[in-house]
Amino acid sequence: MTDFLPLSVPNIGARERELVLEAIDSGFVSSVGPFVNRFESEFADAIGSRFAVACASGTAAIHVGLQVLGVGPGDLVAVSDFTFVGSSNPVKYLGADVLLVDSEPGRWTIDPDLLATELARRAKAGEAMPRAVEVVHVLGQPADIDALIAACEPYNIPILEDAAESLGARWSDGRHTGTVGLVGAFSFNGNKIATTGGGGMLVTDDPAIAARAKHLTTQAKVADIGYLHDEVGYNYRLTNVAAALGIAQLERLDGFVRRKREVAARYDEAFADTDLTLPPRPADTEPTFWLYSVLAPAGRRDELLAGLRSHDIDARPLWRPLHAQPPNSGAAVVGGRVGVDLFERGVSLPCSTDLTNDDQDRVVAAVLATLTAG
Ligand SMILES: *Cc1c(COP(=O)(O)O)cnc(C)c1O
Repeated sequence: MTDFLPLSVPNIGARERELVLEAIDSGFVSSVGPFVNRFESEFADAIGSRFAVACASGTAAIHVGLQVLGVGPGDLVAVSDFTFVGSSNPVKYLGADVLLVDSEPGRWTIDPDLLATELARRAKAGEAMPRAVEVVHVLGQPADIDALIAACEPYNIPILEDAAESLGARWSDGRHTGTVGLVGAFSFNGNKIATTGGGGMLVTDDPAIAARAKHLTTQAKVADIGYLHDEVGYNYRLTNVAAALGIAQLERLDGFVRRKREVAARYDEAFADTDLTLPPRPADTEPTFWLYSVLAPAGRRDELLAGLRSHDIDARPLWRPLHAQPPNSGAAVVGGRVGVDLFERGVSLPCSTDLTNDDQDRVVAAVLATLTAG
């Protein structure tokens, strides 16, 4: 009888308990309180951004970010086709439509060549251009941002980085994901590398964007004038208790990232001689492997998932691409076969930051047993 091995669980310890209790004892449990502001400034420092605006979720941060970039009803937003649906729902909240762009096979993130070609085609044909491009750093893998910037620049299209999965992930030159586009959005949901239970962060170097984002997340209330709200705002600010948890998690982030990379390196080594496709490792990036995901040989994903389940090991498929999600039916799609392949073959393996080597060896043995049994 073995214990059930989960996919990825939060790593909550003594420091989290200490700061959360401090928040509760202070009486500031809601969205006003010193931990929220402190979390914003420590987060901005940690990733090298000028401003950070704490939000109730990553989805909220993307929603507000797109709105501040000017996205509104009838607009088009280019989004990675292969991503979690939280990337595209905010586009819909704003009454805009998605233009779904496939991934590059060697990277799994949005393909800059496909984007550039599509933008050039639209410009030439006089078709609607995207109001913004949303770049997703899938699974903690930084996208090819310089090529994406080059594709957008001729048309002055701003980039929002959906860095929900990439806290701790940088390009090799030191830039942190989320800090290169005009706006970046992070998530602290329970399954992300650092969690506040639920929460998010919008980051930017632009003071006007930061101010407008903060305004929108706090019901668009005008300071010092009795209950004046000058536009339709949202109740999107993070709570003080959640921010206390976030500060403690941020202190431990380097250790979490180190452990995710160790786990990834051990899996890579164990699977080197199998016919699994291993996660991409482009030379210009320092990915976090937030979820460690491999591609099964064609047609064998479900067998691998079932094999692991029979050993009490949690493993999950990768996302069904956005173009195959009912809310996006009818959306414009560029490419799409890479994302479908990732969905049809992808399997994420247990990779909690407190995963022991013994437990990881159990996963490896179950994967190898399943592959050789087929
Ligand atoms: C988790 C996630 C989101 C949404 O974040 P929440 O905090 O869950 O709202 C958005 N985009 C991606 C790519 C995600 O993984």
